[in-house]
Amino acid sequence: MSCNCPVTQPGPTLASTCGGSAFMLFMGLLEVFIRSQCDLEDPCGRPESRSEPDPIYDFIVVGGGSAGSVVASRLSEIPHWRVLLIEAGGPEPTGTQVPSMFLNFLGSNIDWGYRTEPEEQACLGEVDRRCYWPRGKVLGGTSVLNGMMYIRGSRQDYDDWAALGNTGWSYEEVMPYFLKSEDNQQPHLMDQGYHGVGGYLTVTQFPYHPPLSHAILQAGREMGYQVRDLNGMSHTGFAIAQTTSRNGSRLSAAKAFLRPVKDRHNLHIMLNTTVVKVLVNETTKEAYGVVIVKGGHPEMKEVILARNEIIISGGAVNSPQILMLSGIGPKEDLKSAGIPVVLDLPGVGKNLQNHVAFFVNFQINDTDTQALNWATAMEYLLFRDGLMSGTGISEVTAIINSKYNNPADDNPDLQYFFGGFLANCARTGQVGERVNPNNTNSKRTINIIPAVLHPMSRGYITLGSSDPLAPPKIVANYLSHPADIATLVDGIKIAVAMSQTPSLQRYGFRLDETPVAGCENFTFGCDAYWECAARRQTGPENHQAGSCRMGPPGDHGAVVDPELRVYGIERLRVIDASVMPKVTSGNTNAPAIMIAEKGADMIKSTWFGRRSWDYCQEEVCNYSRVRRGYNNLSGTLFSMTDKTTSRYSNEGFDMFIVNVQTNFLFQQLSLIEEKPVGKRGNPNNAVAKLRRKPTVRRNSRLKLLVECAEPHLAKTHFSVATTGSLWPRISFGFANNHVLNMQYLNPENSCSRAEPYTYS
Ligand SMILES: Cc1cc2nc3c(=O)[nH]c(=O)nc-3n(C[C@H](O)[C@H](O)[C@H](O)COP(=O)(O)OP(=O)(O)OC[C@H]3O[C@@H](n4cnc5c(N)ncnc54)[C@H](O)[C@@H]3O)c2cc1C
Repeated sequence: MSCNCPVTQPGPTLASTCGGSAFMLFMGLLEVFIRSQCDLEDPCGRPESRSEPDPIYDFIVVGGGSAGSVVASRLSEIPHWRVLLIEAGGPEPTGTQVPSMFLNFLGSNIDWGYRTEPEEQACLGEVDRRCYWPRGKVLGGTSVLNGMMYIRGSRQDYDDWAALGNTGWSYEEVMPYFLKSEDNQQPHLMDQGYHGVGGYLTVTQFPYHPPLSHAILQAGREMGYQVRDLNGMSHTGFAIAQTTSRNGSRLSAAKAFLRPVKDRHNLHIMLNTTVVKVLVNETTKEAYGVVIVKGGHPEMKEVILARNEIIISGGAVNSPQILMLSGIGPKEDLKSAGIPVVLDLPGVGKNLQNHVAFFVNFQINDTDTQALNWATAMEYLLFRDGLMSGTGISEVTAIINSKYNNPADDNPDLQYFFGGFLANCARTGQVGERVNPNNTNSKRTINIIPAVLHPMSRGYITLGSSDPLAPPKIVANYLSHPADIATLVDGIKIAVAMSQTPSLQRYGFRLDETPVAGCENFTFGCDAYWECAARRQTGPENHQAGSCRMGPPGDHGAVVDPELRVYGIERLRVIDASVMPKVTSGNTNAPAIMIAEKGADMIKSTWFGRRSWDYCQEEVCNYSRVRRGYNNLSGTLFSMTDKTTSRYSNEGFDMFIVNVQTNFLFQQLSLIEEKPVGKRGNPNNAVAKLRRKPTVRRNSRLKLLVECAEPHLAKTHFSVATTGSLWPRISFGFANNHVLNMQYLNPENSCSRAEPYTYS
């Protein structure tokens, strides 16, 4: 890894994220140390932002968050597709890479920092009854702010989506897309057949677990639950969650999916650039471009055109906002905001869902000292271990049933989060420094946080004004359905019961009985008290979904069809958490990434092979760099997933056909190299080989017979090259002038599912 590149991502300082001057000395020094770590700062690995985009691209992806990063990465695998990713925020600050700092950046300038409209029945103790909704405004989006837990949701979640008419979205059908992303580093600990290896997204537990994490798991066992892989055979139980992290640091979607491909010539990324409108042809109702504003200066508007499609991946708050700013939405809402109606699409912004929670506080028999100090810092800086390499006991989760849910369904309605031992801020760094220096008797506080997984309440998003840079109006409507508050109250009582298990009593768990302000008139601990407490101190959770919901044709509230195409508008899709018809039963980052993987595949199957011959008649070739002579193109032909952990693999021989087409004369195209490599590039693990070296001529078909001895380790790389002088306008190998199309011949007897061709 090289560090010899200019640093371009200042971001908020750690001291400022802890609250300012009192934290200046230690946090300032720590920041210097953290930023000197090459793997965290990664100055050479980050994609560069384009200040001057091309005037036209094949695909424009709006929003570089969890979903948008995946979509841009996957679409740009097709070398002749020119892809632009536009992100309103800047690059990831180095401090966000440290897992224990995961709460620090909430409220900073990489957070949109939304507040809901005044709520009727929740957040009643907040200023103006507004709930706080953090959302990432940064490359990587909310995956840069989140708690990194990798939870897919239940089988029933996806089967319900399919039952609503969303063909292709059942659990069995979405599973390959979870596997495609995944590089599970602990497959041996997880349920066999449910995990993938070799993908971009490293999934693993944090390296260090505080002892209390294990005690919580034991508490779960004492309550009759199993400790298990919650993404595996069953979705009910307790776990130290696997996370989207790698070597003790955060793996945002941008770090996972964009950094490895940052040198692709056909992928451009614009940061600090906000899309304020999608342009739609009024007659044909086709989307054809976007209006952007750079650096938040509304006067600096520019138009960029899209030849094939525009994909909105702005997240559950901003995607409906972008549609409405473009005149696509409920016509009354558009009219009252002064936006000309392009298409009356009533479902836009509706069906907004989120989990809802409550923090139950306990004191334990432990002095309330800062978990961050020089000792934990050195452990992290030297070994990427210790409390800074994780999120304290927030790594633990439990997904279990309230008394209202049927356990036989294996689709629990409560998720538990835990808070404590978070090494995020300290004043002096001295071991034993008190969290509250004014109270030397204070005990350590631990939170157990039940969250309602199947909320019945629905909110909505609409425009506050026609100003595209103003925040949208968010009406969460939390706890407006009686079932939600009933489930939450039951969840609170289960949390109290959990604290009374022998394992947690060994820590001296004691319920904090200080009444919540405004609930003093209720008897502490009775249902009415907990209801009052949950409505006043609502935990607004962060799993917003559903505001551009997918549904089958004829479903009048649907915004996108099951291929994620916006109804009534051609060449426009929404791909992010907003398309979920129902929020999944767990954290939503992994599902957003899965949606993006599947969405990108659907785009590929729509456009692959189309319009390939006339490219050089169009402007795109004016931007091609001219190269003559020897052109080389290499990439991953296909990758194989672990046959022991994937149900989609088998041993044997596989036949692939690679179609090579070109619109210019060339002397010869041949496979010049076969380099099977093992997992993580170890040549000793060479396990697949090409049976012969074919030579192909113009428009011929290249047949590759691949032997898979141990498919779970294999990744086969190939290179092709031309010799002689080429058509002068060819650029970056064959990028603009070839279609490389892989057709998988024998899915029954497959080493793996065929991966689309990737250009590296
Ligand atoms: C504090 C917190 C903790 C969480 N913890 C977890 C967890 O542990 N595990 C988990 O699975 N999930 C967690 N989540 C939720 C999860 O991270 C999100 O559901 C997921 O990241 C959403 O992905 P998305 O692609 O839909 O949206 P986002 O990731 O939010 O992406 C949207 C992107 O679009 C950009 N954008 C928006 N509007 C525009 C515009 N007009 N022009 C250009 N760009 C625009 C945004 O800046 C952003 O980068 C957490 C969320 C929060 C806030």
